[in-house]
Amino acid sequence: MSIKIFRCTHCGTTLFPARYLCPSCGGTEWSALDAERGVVTAATAVRRRVGTDNSDDIHLASVATEAGPIVVARLDSPVESGDAVSLALDAQHRIVARRG
Ligand SMILES: [Zn+2]
Repeated sequence: MSIKIFRCTHCGTTLFPARYLCPSCGGTEWSALDAERGVVTAATAVRRRVGTDNSDDIHLASVATEAGPIVVARLDSPVESGDAVSLALDAQHRIVARRG
């Protein structure tokens, strides 16, 4: 499942997630764009527990999508700023990113 970015059909502002009113022009009509790829702008690991076993760490990254808006994605491996990632929604509708 791909992520939908919303673009105001009146002024071209892009948003994620969707809102009812465009914050720039007050428009209410949107076209949906697939956001399949992006570039990591910030990455962090959230430690689930203290210790030397890092296998349970949750990796989170801010990803600038091709369409413009930045989304926060979960990853199963560490990434660094500047890495290109692919984006998708998992079965729980969470945004997940994968390097490459
Ligand atoms: Zn607008």
